Amino acid sequence: MSDLSTRLIHHPYRPPEGFDAVAPGVHKASTVLFKDVQALRTQEWADKSGYTYGLHGTPTTFTLEERIATIEGGQYCVLAPSGLSALTLVDMSFLRQGDEVLLPDNAYGPGKAFAAGELAHWGITHRYYDPLDPADLVSRLSPATRLVWIEAPGSITLEFPDIPALVAAVRQANDGRAPERRILTALDNTWGAGIAFRPFDLGVDISMQALTKYPSGGADVLMGSVVTRDHALHHQLLMCHMRLGLGVSGNDTELVLRGLASMPLRYQTQDATTRALATWMQDQPGVVRVLHPALAGSPGHEAWAREATAAACLFSAVFDERFSQSQIDAFCDRLRLFRPGWSWAGPISLCAPYNVPAIRTRPWAHKGGLVRFAIGLESADDLRADLAQALVALHT
Ligand SMILES: *Cc1c(COP(=O)(O)O)cnc(C)c1O
Repeated sequence: MSDLSTRLIHHPYRPPEGFDAVAPGVHKASTVLFKDVQALRTQEWADKSGYTYGLHGTPTTFTLEERIATIEGGQYCVLAPSGLSALTLVDMSFLRQGDEVLLPDNAYGPGKAFAAGELAHWGITHRYYDPLDPADLVSRLSPATRLVWIEAPGSITLEFPDIPALVAAVRQANDGRAPERRILTALDNTWGAGIAFRPFDLGVDISMQALTKYPSGGADVLMGSVVTRDHALHHQLLMCHMRLGLGVSGNDTELVLRGLASMPLRYQTQDATTRALATWMQDQPGVVRVLHPALAGSPGHEAWAREATAAACLFSAVFDERFSQSQIDAFCDRLRLFRPGWSWAGPISLCAPYNVPAIRTRPWAHKGGLVRFAIGLESADDLRADLAQALVALHT
């Protein structure tokens, strides 16, 4: 080995064992080196007994997977490059041509778009059920149903469903079904983040999260996770994940690991600020309704109070119908601390107006426009003052 290039690549130095630090190391790989050809031929990729290829996991991704599974009370986890790709991974892993998937009417929009686009093209139908009415779900279950999505609460209108009742309806329909035709329940647990409630204790088969939101907390990284307790389900997810080639980068994984330690504190702080502002907002002139599962009278409040011990950083305000959409847009633009933007659970507060009738199939009780607020880490007093000055301007 006299050539410099060869010596630079095949460097003999190995750092000493025993380095211990607060943060786990960041391991990055496409290629993973095997000790010999026999190991290359026989190394198993589908469990965590070894390493085979960057797409199949590194010490960094295995660490995050273990932590997310533990936080959610599950057993197995697989990471995906975004929350949306984690959601579509669940669809693609378990749905086949001729199957039907049921979505709550208030589901995350891009998940609906995937059902109406790719799933429909592949001969997989979807229908919507009323998340607040388990009897409505029962009436829509059919021999073709293979997957039921649950979102707690709905993305924009924040209705909190009775998860055990929805799961019980599906379990009853599964009585007598062949195991491979069993209807699965998948929860989008982005809002709960494993903190507000324990998804597997409520009976769901699969819990998916956008780690983009609370676990990261920085508004600077995209990632998703799918957690299960059942090994067969995990294996099916893993096979589909492998065939799709859904990798996540070591640096992105490290950002999420870095965010995790402060997640319970952030969740708690943002919860308190959000409840204070939502409660205050209820009394403001021109606001006819505030939607937040912890507020008495908000749809699904009783189910939230039974199952959950915390609430995330979202609330929505419905304005009086006398305000036009352009007046509501101007109200949002007048806010200084709240900025228009998607995603949430980061440091900065966000606002976004929605036209609710356009995004759901069921009748909507209100005629006025809706604004969803996502509360960041700013002080409640400053955010309240910001809302107050924009509300004053709305009325003048
Ligand atoms: C943000 C979000 C997602 C998607 O996450 P991305 O990482 O942005 O793709 C899925 N479900 C819910 C409820 C979300 O809020």
